[in-house]
Parts: sequence; structure tokens; C-alpha cells
Amino acid sequence: MDRRQFLEAGVAGAVGTMVTGGAARAAGRGGEGLHPAGVAASNMKLTFRPYTLELRHVFTIATSSRTTTPVVLTEIEYDGIVGYGEASMPPYLGESHETATAFLSTVDLSGFRDPFGLEEILAYVDGLAPGNPAAKASVDIALHDLVGRLMRQPWWRVWGYDRSTTPPTSFTIGIDTPEVVRQKTLEASGYKVLKVKLGRDTDRQMIETIRSVTQVPIVADANQGWTDRQQALDTILWLKDRGVAFVEQPMAKDRPDDNAWITARSPIPILGDEAVQRLPDVRRASSIYSGINIKLMKSTGLREAREMLTLARALDLKVLLGCMTETSCAISAATQIAPAVDWADLDGALLIRNDPFVGAALSDGVVRATDAPGIGLTKTPTP
Ligand code: MG
Repeated sequence: MDRRQFLEAGVAGAVGTMVTGGAARAAGRGGEGLHPAGVAASNMKLTFRPYTLELRHVFTIATSSRTTTPVVLTEIEYDGIVGYGEASMPPYLGESHETATAFLSTVDLSGFRDPFGLEEILAYVDGLAPGNPAAKASVDIALHDLVGRLMRQPWWRVWGYDRSTTPPTSFTIGIDTPEVVRQKTLEASGYKVLKVKLGRDTDRQMIETIRSVTQVPIVADANQGWTDRQQALDTILWLKDRGVAFVEQPMAKDRPDDNAWITARSPIPILGDEAVQRLPDVRRASSIYSGINIKLMKSTGLREAREMLTLARALDLKVLLGCMTETSCAISAATQIAPAVDWADLDGALLIRNDPFVGAALSDGVVRATDAPGIGLTKTPTP
């Protein structure tokens, strides 16, 4: 028996144990599709299609403005059960419909007989080419959804998280005129935290406009927009006095000394976002920032996001769980780990008008995981 055969026998044995061990539900459809010995009867099939999200409002941050976001929707089918995934690709991050479909075309899952082999499958996907984090995340999310559906359990339960500890999600207000900022703030009355995009010369006007309407806590994101560290620190001190809880990525990610200088002097946490993409970035960030922003589209999905979360905790870093403009698919995936983070910024699906899924939804200021299995979608798109 070679290593591969040994692993397959082990996995098959584990599945068989679940089927016969009083947890038949965990095998999905009462074990249908599994041979009596627990050996999978059919292969996994990955399909994908480009889709374009339409934003409710023009979205402006320090470095760009846009009204649509390209995504790719993936499906992994196994024995009649489908898991759903998504790649969201804001243009400034370098991925696109073209790059994601090119990458996904190289993914061949036919050699893997058992979707429960998440580690082996996702390591294979990651090794196919460098980069492509969102495209890789779309496979990771679909596979987690599939396996959760096979177990008939949501991942937050499998991982042992307590959903009631999910932090409230912040609602993002992009850079805009005082009239629009005032209007958006009024529309955001259902949220307990507002996230304000800063990094242009209207920073103080943005905050004053919001404070003229509401006193809810604010978090701020400069998106690398500040260029002078003393000015940045002065702004942070001013922001703290106006109830701002933390600031994301004050200066360019390739200026670690300036960002570290600010962190050392700031009375509120300074989080790395653009500077922190994947697991190896977390250790580097610990000497520069007081926290990190984890996003599934940067981390290549849930598998590595959880590794980043664990390492961040070991390094005493705060953790924000963020998102791109995404459908309820990727957002629902993120809610599976949201109970374990300090702050959540999972408003991505609330900013679009053509969400093809129904999943985790806003309730009392929190986007919380549902009881549905897998990543928690409660309605999937009609084919
Ligand atoms: Mg950010």
C-alpha cells in the first residue's frame, strides 16, 4: 500500500465510522452515494461562470472609484450535491474574469475521490500557480460548502464556535460629498458601527459630517492614503477624540518603518490590511501593526484564514474579518469564522443589488452565520 492508498483507506475508514457511529446524518443524504465501506462512488466536478456585481452606490476609496465588481461563481458537484463558491476581484487587486477563469480551467479535481480531503485538495490548488488568491478562494469556499453539506453541519458548529460572539458588522461609507455622506449615514441606522474611508484631504469633513448625524462608534480605513507619518498621527489623535476605534492601513504597505512608527505612538489599534495578504505576512505584521485584516479573497479561503487567525492570536494581534464587494456566498463563508474575531466588516453583500444567493443576513447589526449546512446559504440560485 503506497502513501496515497494508505490515506484513501484512512479517509474511507473515517467516513465509514461516521456513517455507522450513530452520526449517519453527518455523511449526508443518509449515506447515499457512499459504498458500504465508505468509498466515494463518484468524482468531484468543478464548474464556474463569470458574473458582475452591480453596486447600489458609486464606491470610492483613497485610490479608486467604481460601480461594478467582477466575480466568478464556482460550483463543485459530488454525488448530486453541490457546494457553492465565489471569487470577488476588485480591479485594483489584479485579478479579473480572465485571470480567474484561466486559473480555474487548470484545476482538475478528477484525481481526488473524496471531498473530505480538504488539506490535500487545497494544497494542490494553491500549488498550481502563484497568486490568484480570489480564484483559489472560490475553490476553497465551494469545497467547504460541499463538505459541510455532506456532513449536514455548518462549519461554525464543526469548528466549535459560539455564534453569539459574532461582533457587529460595520457599514462602509466611501469618500464622498457631505450631502451624500450625510444621506448614507442616515440610511445606515441599522448598524452599530460605521466604517469610514479616509485618505484624501476631506478626512475631517467626512468625520464631522457623520458626527453631525450619529454618535455610533466609527472605525476608519485610510487605504494607504496618508503620505506623512506625523500628519497621519495627528489625524489619528483627532479621530480618537471623535470615537474612532481603530485605523486600517494608514500609509503605503511598502513603508513598514513609517507604519510601525505610527503604531508605536497611536492610542488606538493600527491594522494592516493591504500589507497582510496570506499566512507568511502575519508574522511580519506583528512588528509593524497591532492587528490585521483577514479577508477570504486575500487568504485563498477559509483554510488559510483560520491558520492566519491562529497565528495572529499567538502573536497577540487584534483581528478584523473583512470582505470585498461580494455576494452572500463569500460573506456567508466568512461568517463561519466571524465568532472568533474582534471586529467584523462583512457588509459586502449589502452593497450590491443583484445578489444571486440568500445566506447570512443582517440582524440587529450583526451578519451572523445561519443554521444551514456548509457555508450557510439558505437559498441557492436556480440553474
Ligand atoms: Mg481596508
